[in-house]
Amino acid sequence: MINVAVDGPGSAGKGTVARGVARALQFRYVDTGAMYRVVALAAGRAGVGVDDAARLGAVAADLDIDFRWEATSDGPGALRVLLEGEDVTEVIRAGDMGPAASAVSRHPEVRDALLGLQRQLAVRGGVVMDGRDIGTVVLPDAAVKVFLDASLQERAKRRHLELQQRGESVTLQEVADALAQRDDADRNRPVAPLVAAPDAVRIDTTHLSVPQAVAEVLKLVAAALRAADPIDTPEGAG
Ligand code: C5P
Repeated sequence: MINVAVDGPGSAGKGTVARGVARALQFRYVDTGAMYRVVALAAGRAGVGVDDAARLGAVAADLDIDFRWEATSDGPGALRVLLEGEDVTEVIRAGDMGPAASAVSRHPEVRDALLGLQRQLAVRGGVVMDGRDIGTVVLPDAAVKVFLDASLQERAKRRHLELQQRGESVTLQEVADALAQRDDADRNRPVAPLVAAPDAVRIDTTHLSVPQAVAEVLKLVAAALRAADPIDTPEGAG
């Protein structure tokens, strides 16, 4: 079974689109950003600073992280993230956790510790994985690679709405500034920077609805499956 890699900057719609694609294909969805967020949370609780690469690496290597699907009537529902059995799904989405995740994720010690786990989850295929370096580093052989982007203004609007729904009071401008700063840090770090793989297909979601973006990715999946098994195509059969 093939894997689907979805990369892109913050709030470009990666999680929503990746979940929709996974649901349509009955694939598993793996949110690697959540892993970095959990490392940031665990490190903060253990009093480990964001510059302490060695201890951060140890936190990541010892991470007791688990993912559970919360079943709902209309499908597999929401993905819950557990740290040592505690449901931290909401905690890791707080406004300050994105920058904290970005700060810990720049250390190779942390990335190396999570890489094995990420590859392990995709080893049998049938996975849609989203992040920043999935198509370039984690799953360079993924049959489908997508780089999702959207204008900073649109991404800030989406993130602002999400934070407002959480009851966090923050201005649109503050959200835009924080997103721009985080993207900048992710793009310019020396290890596994945020960049589209040369063979990734770029999809700009600024003016796309979620179903439209999901449909775009599913088209790529269908093309990849045809390419892998050309006998099934009308051309191959004829
Ligand atoms: O996608 P999300 O906003 O949850 O990611 C949080 C942070 O984790 C990103 O800003 C990035 O620094 C880091 N990250 C990463 N590599 C990934 C996924 C996330 O460096 N594959």
